[in-house]
Amino acid sequence: MEQLEPMPGDWRRALAVVAHPDDLEYGCAAAVATWTGEGREVSYLVATRGEAGIDTLPPAEAAPLREREERAGAAVVGVTSVEFLDHADGVIEYGVALRRDITAAIRRHRPELLITLNFADTWGGTAWNTPDHRAVGRAALDAAGDAGNRWIFPDTEAEPWDGVRWVAVAGDDDPTHAVDVTAGLEAGVRSLAEHRAYIEALTDQPPQDYARSLVEGFAAETAGRFGGRPAIPFRLFSR
Ligand SMILES: [Zn+2]
Repeated sequence: MEQLEPMPGDWRRALAVVAHPDDLEYGCAAAVATWTGEGREVSYLVATRGEAGIDTLPPAEAAPLREREERAGAAVVGVTSVEFLDHADGVIEYGVALRRDITAAIRRHRPELLITLNFADTWGGTAWNTPDHRAVGRAALDAAGDAGNRWIFPDTEAEPWDGVRWVAVAGDDDPTHAVDVTAGLEAGVRSLAEHRAYIEALTDQPPQDYARSLVEGFAAETAGRFGGRPAIPFRLFSR
């Protein structure tokens, strides 16, 4: 089977930009744990509080709960900086406002690596993606360029930052690179399991079992394309 390239290693800071609490925990957090374990800095930027994500819980109650679960899931993989943009869950609009918010965060955090989630129409085949993922992923790639241009969004607090060298897209149907997550796999499982209330509303399976089967499953799936090692794949856009 065609092998994936190893992810670049010559970077210090990454910023992960996603739509919802839990987007990073379905696999990507195992990569984050591996990286923070190597002394790298990773921060999270989440466009919504995931307030529309639990059918049985009204948004006003779901928002603070999901924020707590996201911060707990981040802490488990060595991430202490988690910011929420307060766009509306389910109806995030792709556009200048979203690009501006992400640009401002990139200029503050000055990452070399930007991480986001699959923004294609589908997850492969006919599994339709959500409008929020489509909007945020595209805006993140756009903002990587915006952040470096002093004439675009000139009124952000922080100075322009043209140092984003790559954007890595998790969950993409056509990955190019991968990272060996042997070191971070266990923390990756615990990170997803921190989304306890969310998972309990989804399935009767205990959160820990649900998280283990999914995250280990993702990592094992990629092993065949990465020298037999448990790995998380990314589609890498270089800049
Ligand atoms: Zn999502």
